[in-house]
Amino acid sequence: MRIAKWSTFVLSAVTAMSLIAGCGASTENKNNTNAAEPTKEPVQDTAKEAVVNVYSARNYAVDKVLYSKFTEKTGIEVNVVDGKAEELIERLKREGESTTADLFITVDGGVLNNAKQAGILQPAVSDVINANVPADRRDADNEWIGLSTRARVIAYSKDRVKPEQLSTYEDLASESWKGKLLVRSSTSLYNQSLLSSFIELNGAEKAEQWSQGIAANLAREPEGGDRDQAKAIAAGVGDVALMNTYYVGLLLNSEDAEEVKVGNSLGVFFPNQDTTGAHINISGAGLTKHSKNQENAIKLIEYLTDVEAQSLVSSENFEYPVNPKAELPELLQSWGEFKAQTLDFGKLGEHNAKAIEIMNKTGWK
Ligand code: FE
Repeated sequence: MRIAKWSTFVLSAVTAMSLIAGCGASTENKNNTNAAEPTKEPVQDTAKEAVVNVYSARNYAVDKVLYSKFTEKTGIEVNVVDGKAEELIERLKREGESTTADLFITVDGGVLNNAKQAGILQPAVSDVINANVPADRRDADNEWIGLSTRARVIAYSKDRVKPEQLSTYEDLASESWKGKLLVRSSTSLYNQSLLSSFIELNGAEKAEQWSQGIAANLAREPEGGDRDQAKAIAAGVGDVALMNTYYVGLLLNSEDAEEVKVGNSLGVFFPNQDTTGAHINISGAGLTKHSKNQENAIKLIEYLTDVEAQSLVSSENFEYPVNPKAELPELLQSWGEFKAQTLDFGKLGEHNAKAIEIMNKTGWK
């Protein structure tokens, strides 16, 4: 876990929670947390710095750019504690009322819904947010708000595969792709949610058959992240890979010439266009139940979902904006419009345990 701008974070934490004893305050603030000196007033709210504290399981380069732009615009500092989503949820549960976190940010609709179910979020009430983000890109109670969507598609070798050979996720489990398929490990939430979506759409039995077929067709044992599957296609290890579209964009725009070459060797195919649609997932932010800087936190969500920020997420990180007014970069335009799965993102979390069980059972390592 990495903590940014620690000094400001501690200062604001102490200011906001000076009544909580043993909160790990720095020495200069020790007196303020001493319950034996009730006459000592905590630092007044007026002295409080303008901050918003974020627990984030999302850390792409574009996020830091957006946070500093927000600070430039509003004077509100953004302090980020990075961590794994599940750990941050556990931490929020453990910290309860004493948490300093105002926002929880992660990259999976299932996990956002888990955070809601865990009771650590509250509705972000804002007409601006409601206008920026369509209802199907946020929680019904606004306990989480989508920040971007991502499609998990089939990337293929432009040299060795014709797009006409591709059709559906289901077809990747067929005999014709034996020894040619690349995908990262089943420990990746991206793959777990992909399988969860099939459980929701096609039932557990079909999902299991598919997982079995995927495991049987792999060109090698799963290793590395999505970008490594693309590199393995370029190296001729396999011909097709399951990966998130934005990694293709990141490769094409990399400072490393080799990565650009990898990106250029790939085609992007949106599967299941005549059936259930391509799998998409959502990245989002939830206002924490015990946020001490609610107004600032809501302002940050309003900013992150406005046209400028949304266009930047798309042009810098090649994700799909949730705000329909945002501009799509040329690359995403070149991929064209596509039919996406329509399902309640929360279902991805509901089926997560079953998906992991299936992956283990079918030997998807
Ligand atoms: Fe990613």
